[in-house]
Amino acid sequence: MNAVLDNVAASTGKSAEKIALENNKLHKRLCRLVGQAIGDFNMIEEGDKVMVCLSGGKDSYALLDILMTLRERAPIDFEIIAVNLDQKQPNFPDHILPAYLKELGIPFHIENQDTYSIVKRLIPEGKTTCSLCSRLRRGILYRVADELGCNKIALGHHRDDILETFFLNMFFGGKIKGMPAKLVSDDGKHMVIRPMAYVKEEDSERYAAVKGFPIIPCDLCGSQENLQRKQIKGLMREWEKKFPGRVESIFSSLSTVVPSHLMDRDLFGFKDIKADGQANPLGDIAFDEEPCSTPTTVPGIIPLQQG
Ligand code: SF4
Repeated sequence: MNAVLDNVAASTGKSAEKIALENNKLHKRLCRLVGQAIGDFNMIEEGDKVMVCLSGGKDSYALLDILMTLRERAPIDFEIIAVNLDQKQPNFPDHILPAYLKELGIPFHIENQDTYSIVKRLIPEGKTTCSLCSRLRRGILYRVADELGCNKIALGHHRDDILETFFLNMFFGGKIKGMPAKLVSDDGKHMVIRPMAYVKEEDSERYAAVKGFPIIPCDLCGSQENLQRKQIKGLMREWEKKFPGRVESIFSSLSTVVPSHLMDRDLFGFKDIKADGQANPLGDIAFDEEPCSTPTTVPGIIPLQQG
């Protein structure tokens, strides 16, 4: 057990056995959820070469770790190569990832590109640098995927990243739009996948502590954290505390979209709908108060009776 967990044991008063059991459950849960996302979205297929983008943050370490476990068990054959982009940020500890990956015995590539200087040169002091930095990083990673012959690019975004993006787009962008679990890259050549899409950030955080991943801080560039994202994260944490199950329910709503009950005329042909005289048990109940159909997945909440 590592020092972090010793502290957990001391602060929670749980026995070492109980903690080991919980950790084992956590590992199983992550494997199940990552496996489920891969299956649901057909993310990885026979013969794929998957480039796992490793930033040194908790989520990308967890992604690599779980993918390696799943590859051992998978009935299909696929390759994994870990890639880190060293953006030459001041004080970036460039020995940590190579040492970790060598120890793991996995093929890896470190791409050295000084995007830090470019961003500093082009963006005036005090302005947010993340947007240009991410664009540069994206282009470089696509090129590296080409050079390494990788057809899939795996990113470590988790459920909470997806929800935060969803709320950011809704609150500030006027769009119902999240972060896809699978998409074609904007150069049209690669498939980008997010196998951690069903994993809660809290679990990823705990897993990183359990495994003692050598985390590299993400604020070395000196950029300020996106305040709007920070606020939404705070809001979600508060909901989770006050209304257990709410965040889970919102996440589940992203997979249960009813275009006929939204307002997007491109998504649903409102102009052409006709009353054809056929009763539709799933049709609207325009004059009734809409009951909330509580998802059965929300623990501790009994679904409302319909009808
Ligand atoms: S936090 Fe720094 S390294 Fe990360 S995207 Fe923003 S500018 Fe780039």
